[in-house]
Amino acid sequence: MSYTHDTIYYLKQSSPAQCEFYQAVEEVLESLEPLLEHDDQYRKHAIIERMVEPERQIMFRVPWVDDNGNVQVNKGYRIEFNSALGPYKGGLRFHPSVNASIMKFLGFEQIFKNALTGLPIGGGKGGANFDPKGRSDNEIMRFCQSYMTELYRHIGATTDVPAGDIGVGAREIGYMFGQYKRLTGRFEGVLTGKSTLWGGSLARKEATGYGVVYFAEHMMAYQNDSLKGKKCLVSGAGNVAIYAIEKLIELDAIPLTCSDSRGTIYHEQGIDLALLKEIKQVRGDSLETYLKTHKDAQYTPVNDYPENGHAVWHYEGDAAFPCATQNELTQKDAKALLKNNVKLVTEGANMPCDQAAIDTFIDAKVAFGPGKAANAGGVATSQLEMSQNASMQSWSFEQVDKRLKIIMENIFNSANGTAKEYGHEGNLILGANIAGFKRVAQAMIEQGVV
Ligand code: GLU
Repeated sequence: MSYTHDTIYYLKQSSPAQCEFYQAVEEVLESLEPLLEHDDQYRKHAIIERMVEPERQIMFRVPWVDDNGNVQVNKGYRIEFNSALGPYKGGLRFHPSVNASIMKFLGFEQIFKNALTGLPIGGGKGGANFDPKGRSDNEIMRFCQSYMTELYRHIGATTDVPAGDIGVGAREIGYMFGQYKRLTGRFEGVLTGKSTLWGGSLARKEATGYGVVYFAEHMMAYQNDSLKGKKCLVSGAGNVAIYAIEKLIELDAIPLTCSDSRGTIYHEQGIDLALLKEIKQVRGDSLETYLKTHKDAQYTPVNDYPENGHAVWHYEGDAAFPCATQNELTQKDAKALLKNNVKLVTEGANMPCDQAAIDTFIDAKVAFGPGKAANAGGVATSQLEMSQNASMQSWSFEQVDKRLKIIMENIFNSANGTAKEYGHEGNLILGANIAGFKRVAQAMIEQGVV
């Protein structure tokens, strides 16, 4: 039996009912097979066995009082997965779907993503099954304060540095930072994604989306092509999608779609970015309201779409950028994209394509950029924020963006070069997983059995 099979079998026994976690582990372990076959040292040091077990998992109660005076309780998490390369680093997700499986898959992916950046950061993830939708500003603040009242004792600028993710943006980071400072009396770089008024980095907000497009541009260049003039299908309407769309427009590509939890917008003339920002960043409204300004756009509500398919992937486009959430692009969607001659798929979200969709793209030789490489610009810029905080400096937007570009180029070259080295040219999943793994594994070996 293979290493992958044995490990997944063990995880199913030791951590039952964590499907997303098994999915993430399986993808990585399958990629590592060409490496593990020829290299005995990883087996000798039980690297895989240690890597799939988080160093520490913190789960806690988050009680808070809503605006009607009712007591609410949520479940909070912080998975401190691997600190071989540096302090645990990774975002916090506030979403009703959050559970131990989702936290662990995200934490596991983060280890390799962070390693790929080449920066000194370990992997972690956290969050809560809290639904921010429809909550007042005061409710959000009380929730964040309660969450931090437990979390503060586990984190620190050199131990564990959380950031944002779905449902956690600058506002939430602000409330959590305020509570951390009140509890500890320390003003330090314990969170990233802070407001630029008090320690945040310029370009952090844009970094994930911009980085995704820089990565895609390298993928295109490798095929002697570019994004210029390409029709792009983007899903999501959060930070990643918005700034991916912004960079695509800057590079003369044509983003045609975006989506939120309720539906998809398709606009043949290209997405009106200013309107999208107004709807999502200012009004916090549904995408359906896009139609009020652009009567020629199409809106497809989620429920109008057949099971296991997502409207956004059934339009014609040269490139697809899934920037919403895990498993949002299934095999059915992948087949629709192939039928429409998609040339490139670059993941902006974490694990947005399920395994069957990925297999479909790889079999069809579509250029595929995995999230843990393509969306690493966000966490990389978080590390630049940590550097600025530690040295009490703040860099200009251009300085940060320039470093981001270099980091994305290095990640592409490392994933691409590693894939070639192991005889799988063009398979960036394999390349990214092996390149990230080797860094973490080497550090673990050098640090002994801990
Ligand atoms: N949540 C983001 C990610 O998935 C960013 C994490 C961070 O900046 O620490 O990588």
